[in-house]
Amino acid sequence: MSGPSSHRKQRWSGAIRTRALELGFEAVGIAPVRASDHAPAYRRWVEEGRAGEMEYLAREDAVARRADPSVLVDGARTAVVVAKNYYVPDEDGEVEDPSRAIFARYARDRDYHDVLTPRLVALQEWINDTLMPVGGRAYMDTGPVLERELAARAGLGWAGRNTMLIRPGLGSYVFLGTVLLDVELAYDDGFDGEHCGSCTRCVDACPTDALMGRDASGAPVMDARRCISYLTIELKGPIPRDLRPLIGNRIYGCDICQEVCPWNSEKFVQITDEPAFRPREGVHGAELIELMKLTPEGFRKRFRKSPVKRAKRRGLLRNVAVGLGNWGSPEAVPVLTEALSDEEPLVRGHAAWALGRIGTEGSTQVLLGRAESEEDSWVREEISLALSAIERESSR
Ligand code: SF4
Ligand code: SF4
Repeated sequence: MSGPSSHRKQRWSGAIRTRALELGFEAVGIAPVRASDHAPAYRRWVEEGRAGEMEYLAREDAVARRADPSVLVDGARTAVVVAKNYYVPDEDGEVEDPSRAIFARYARDRDYHDVLTPRLVALQEWINDTLMPVGGRAYMDTGPVLERELAARAGLGWAGRNTMLIRPGLGSYVFLGTVLLDVELAYDDGFDGEHCGSCTRCVDACPTDALMGRDASGAPVMDARRCISYLTIELKGPIPRDLRPLIGNRIYGCDICQEVCPWNSEKFVQITDEPAFRPREGVHGAELIELMKLTPEGFRKRFRKSPVKRAKRRGLLRNVAVGLGNWGSPEAVPVLTEALSDEEPLVRGHAAWALGRIGTEGSTQVLLGRAESEEDSWVREEISLALSAIERESSR
């Protein structure tokens, strides 16, 4: 039996593109599904431990599915890849003020999974109801699909040295979604080459040296264990001490390697048309001191339907404490003193570190006071290291 004619496939692909744009995506591309070109490099990356604690990336089943999306959906032939712009600008002075919190742009209001997954599912259902019966599955970033590779193959852009998909005219502040389908369609040409050229701005600007350039297959490589996004969101335990000073006041994710990219200059990027991605009150730009006072109830209310919930209150307050330590102002001592009695050891330990960085007589007194009653051995160690740091500073 012969398959659909090339004319029909062209017509279906054209209709899918139109429907995806109507659903509010800024770009759409259609690619054939085949094994990933970067699977061996990805395996190596996992084996070298560079995924850190991100088990969902490192598990053998996840690696296998990333290596070949057709394992995910039986008989998958086609990937429809869509991009949604989430760019929002910073207000003047917001980022430079070390007493205020910087949240990555994607996390300033609603969780994009909740906002965009229904649209992707609607696209899949529309294809099934209007064009032809199809089997498939929609993934909004969560699925173990190598989205960036598929997006490049669908002609949407190239993987920059900062590891992000860059689309000329749109930049890299885009969410990528994929619908895998078990039918063959007409395909877009893959994106031709990469346009980073000799630029290394992102690599040079990364405060933690997490970006490692490209591997032999041409894929950009990142040591996720050093990336601020990983440290402030995915890492559940203490942030390594040597990396804390490099985080500054970026308390949830990091956009530095996107901010410096010439393809994200004001000339190219546009502010998102999606109201759900515009900053909500009390998140980006909030006073660190005020955030440090968040109760469990306050955290739940402030971050309702926000991706920040992923870090949980203890993770966010851990990060805020690091931000306060990096600010280094004695104004933060009272709130950090309170935090030394927080119910979460993770918060108490990072508050101790921050007090050590601030290093006033007042911080020494509260640290000594807490040392007597603290029962958690890791927090006691943090207190002791903080006191030593203050002593070292004062003897200089
Ligand atoms: S997100 Fe920040 S820390 Fe991570 S690679 Fe980019 S610049 Fe470096
Ligand atoms: S900053 Fe330069 S090297 Fe990095 S992704 Fe952008 S163009 Fe490529």
